[in-house]
Amino acid sequence: MQKLAFLVPKSMIEDNYKQRGLRGKLVRKLRQKGIRDERLLEAIAKVPRHVFFDDALLGHAYEDKAFPIGEGQTISQPYTVAFQTEKLEIKAGDKVLEIGTGSGYQACILLEMGAKVYTIEYNRALYQKTREFLPELGYNPFFFFGDGSKGLPVRAPYDKIIVTAGAPVVPDALVTQLGENGILVVPVGNRDKQLMVKLTKQKGALIKEEFDFFSFVPLLGEHGWKSQ
Ligand code: SAH
Repeated sequence: MQKLAFLVPKSMIEDNYKQRGLRGKLVRKLRQKGIRDERLLEAIAKVPRHVFFDDALLGHAYEDKAFPIGEGQTISQPYTVAFQTEKLEIKAGDKVLEIGTGSGYQACILLEMGAKVYTIEYNRALYQKTREFLPELGYNPFFFFGDGSKGLPVRAPYDKIIVTAGAPVVPDALVTQLGENGILVVPVGNRDKQLMVKLTKQKGALIKEEFDFFSFVPLLGEHGWKSQ
């Protein structure tokens, strides 16, 4: 089996002044790029991103870039994580569904912001590794294995839903599982690039906003792409 990038020895889960300094720099860069949510920037300053990286890539952990985490998947670019999270308008106590657990980094950011996080992953190896690893870091979302393109109806409704893989269309199930005043942020497009879409549910109606283009790995499953 391919080695999963974030399976680092426990001894590596240390956070020194150097790494904190690099995170401070990353936060300044995100601010320059237009991120304004102070609680989000505080969360990015706190969550150690380097522990999700393989030894060989460790030096890149605080660059504003996406990186491979094994199983053909990636840890999203910090700006992308920040952009999507800002659009979610997270408040402490929000019940959030994340589609695409991946490394778990995005879930950690949401938890730092005081959200209650339900995260679902379709790749069994990633699901298992992240479910073991995140609690070692002190982060405890509720982990689920399955096809998140169908949402997670057993725990619905959600205040916020974030899709961290590129969808061909907005999955209907996610709109259904959004509570009143809920916000869904989902990248929608083709396999190469997707428009960031925000849907807000108000009195049963949907308000749609569209932002920049991003490039995510494909959302698989029933309401996603049929193959990777
Ligand atoms: N949020 C992640 C980034 C995830 S990359 C992080 O912070 O690291 C996208 C993830 O979505 C991959 O792990 C992929 O396996 C997963 N994925 C793809 N289709 C999915 C589906 N239908 N349901 C749940 N997860 C899915």
